[in-house]
Amino acid sequence: MAIERTLSIIKPDATNRNLTGAINAKFEAAGLRIIAQKRIHLTDAQAGKFYEVHAARPFYGELCEFMSSAPVVVQVLEGEDANAKNREVMGATNPAEAAEGTIRKEFALSIGENSVHGSDAPETAAVEIAYFFSGLELVG
Ligand code: ADP
Ligand code: MG
Repeated sequence: MAIERTLSIIKPDATNRNLTGAINAKFEAAGLRIIAQKRIHLTDAQAGKFYEVHAARPFYGELCEFMSSAPVVVQVLEGEDANAKNREVMGATNPAEAAEGTIRKEFALSIGENSVHGSDAPETAAVEIAYFFSGLELVG
């Protein structure tokens, strides 16, 4: 296993309910180190660019509207196998299918308002991290 970095976003449904600290505690308990973090309010266009890969999906408009509806916390997590590990800590996209103890099982409201984003692989993580952070902001 290699040390990797992954892009995480604490979504508006979670920032609205003041869950940033509770979610960060899950990452840290799993051995993921938060090496960069900032709270920002995305525009619809910025959310649309980030989720461009889903542009053809029926939920794309709703997703961009949701992601720009309130502040998010964007963060870079570092650790062994960080991309797969974070996906485990997050749980399945649909909270109804998420395993016990996962962030989405405990906190998500629905398949759309599911509290966190996580990169799906190291290659996508590199692109997603560069979308939000400069190299100078990554303090590993
Ligand atoms: P994940 O976030 O688990 O990687 P996807 O990449 O498939 O999931 O989808 C990106 C995001 O789009 C999801 O986290 C969720 O917010 C939203 N989404 C996915 N599927 C649906 C759906 N069927 N209805 C509404 N929103 C959805
Ligand atoms: Mg995804």
